[in-house]
Amino acid sequence: MPLRVSQIRMPLDGDESQVIHRALRRAGISADEIESVELVRKSMDRRRRVPEFVYTVDIHLAEEPQAKERRRGQDQKNVDWVESTTLNPLTRGDEKLDHRPVVLGQGPAGLFAALVLAREGFRPLVVDRGSKMNRRVGQIEEFYRQGVLNPESNYLFGEGGAGTFSDGKLTSRSKDPRARAVLDVFRKNSGMDTVGYYYRPHLGSDRVRVVVAQLRREIESLGGAFRYDCQVTGLDIRNGKLRRIFTSAGEIPTSILVCAPGHSARDFYSGLLQDGVALEPKAFQMGFRVEHPQDFVDACIYGKMAQDLNLEPADYRLSAQVKGEGVFSFCMCPGGEIIPAIHDPHHFNTNGMSSFTRATGFANSGLVTTIFPEQFEEKGPLGGLRLQERFEKRASELAGDRYQLPAQRLDDFAAGRPSLELPPTSCRSGAIPANIEPLVPSFVGARIRSALQRFDRQMPGFISAHAILCGPEARSSAPVRILRESDTLEALGITGLFPVGEGAGYAGGIISAAVDGWRAAETVVQRHATPQ
Ligand SMILES: Cc1cc2nc3c(=O)[nH]c(=O)nc-3n(C[C@H](O)[C@H](O)[C@H](O)COP(=O)(O)OP(=O)(O)OC[C@H]3O[C@@H](n4cnc5c(N)ncnc54)[C@H](O)[C@@H]3O)c2cc1C
Repeated sequence: MPLRVSQIRMPLDGDESQVIHRALRRAGISADEIESVELVRKSMDRRRRVPEFVYTVDIHLAEEPQAKERRRGQDQKNVDWVESTTLNPLTRGDEKLDHRPVVLGQGPAGLFAALVLAREGFRPLVVDRGSKMNRRVGQIEEFYRQGVLNPESNYLFGEGGAGTFSDGKLTSRSKDPRARAVLDVFRKNSGMDTVGYYYRPHLGSDRVRVVVAQLRREIESLGGAFRYDCQVTGLDIRNGKLRRIFTSAGEIPTSILVCAPGHSARDFYSGLLQDGVALEPKAFQMGFRVEHPQDFVDACIYGKMAQDLNLEPADYRLSAQVKGEGVFSFCMCPGGEIIPAIHDPHHFNTNGMSSFTRATGFANSGLVTTIFPEQFEEKGPLGGLRLQERFEKRASELAGDRYQLPAQRLDDFAAGRPSLELPPTSCRSGAIPANIEPLVPSFVGARIRSALQRFDRQMPGFISAHAILCGPEARSSAPVRILRESDTLEALGITGLFPVGEGAGYAGGIISAAVDGWRAAETVVQRHATPQ
């Protein structure tokens, strides 16, 4: 049981080596009493005129303290004994498996499910419709060079899933101990200790790729296998039990499928409905993506210190209520680039990614609001998906065959006038001036326009001729949920089918998707003996 010392404040240019000394002094612990000291959190408090770093430190004593001893330190403010949050070892089940478990999708949900299964001796087979990392990176380069999109392997499909070409922010508010375990895997495989304690850990797409490839090699070394360029096209479910799966490369017999298709596998959702899997429509967020020069954001957040201190490019979080409905920033990418996050040539959608250095000089973010199922025109499980498609299709017609961003200057959008020209953008395929209002439902556009006035008060200069608004940002989360049992995590009434991650409607980011995959794998391990 460690002694936690929190609220250790340091100036932004302070000497970080002093943090541990200050923690020990505040807790009244001498150096020879400790077994180890761990930095568990570093955040930045920007509420004061001059921002500060705030640290939390866990002190592990060499001898487990008696109850009386534990009183020591408690009279000090921000010093508390806390329970360790480690995961208990899994107890194996004994139900026989005739075949190895299969994992559909190698995004974070599928990858971490496969990792847990492999570490427990289950030798999973991972199947992904997209390509292996190096090939996928080449396909994306080709996309920009030739303007030809590969519908099976792109920014959304392929090794690492949507997490690969992402901002690589590893933020999580979850108290689930698996979230810490997932971060620990990222920390060990990236060699970056900050991932373990920084409040907004960031790897960037380049380092995420390294981690994903390393985890693939670990799974292979434990007997797991990967099949790329292999699309799952259907499921054979008989008497409420999964029997086999159909793929573009033939059928695979299995009674266990961890199903992690991500939120863009639209054809797969339709197939699931035909296979008798229960789905329901789900609220999701939609809006635009905004981009400013990074210097503007740094000056707003750090003030005069921006140039004096060597600080990381600043991010922001904005939110406003418009007639009782929230509009907020989403997936903000400091120093990032806007990408066409698409998998088919007829539907255009924006998102943002970055590399580790965050050095593009641009800052982009989604500005979105929630759309609820009762607002979908088409009823039924796929109503939200059809709504996304309708607006993405309009954008695709504007984007042209070079996939340029339909964009408007932010000051023009706010004033309701067209843009004749645009400031520079980070997007590699460029941008074209367009009236972007019709790219989202009218109430979404109106809400965002109102919210901009408040954002401009929170960050003066936000509405600017140097910023663009583009879109639509339609896929911030899945518009559909695959229904599942809350205890076994299996699809309703179907033994052996485990829908997980963002596509199944149970996650909204890299860490939460990985945690969901991890939990499903635990369920498999706890029920079954390892396959022969
Ligand atoms: C551009 C971008 C930036 C992002 N930035 C961040 C960020 O910084 N931090 C963060 O936490 N989150 C971020 N996200 C969100 C995050 O990437 C997703 O929440 C996460 O990847 C979801 O994980 P998943 O495993 O559920 O699905 P995905 O990562 O979408 O993976 C699904 C996989 O399934 C495969 N697949 C789909 N259908 C089939 C089929 N029929 N047969 C075989 N394989 C199939 C796909 O090829 C894909 O590899 C970002 C997303 C995007 C698009």
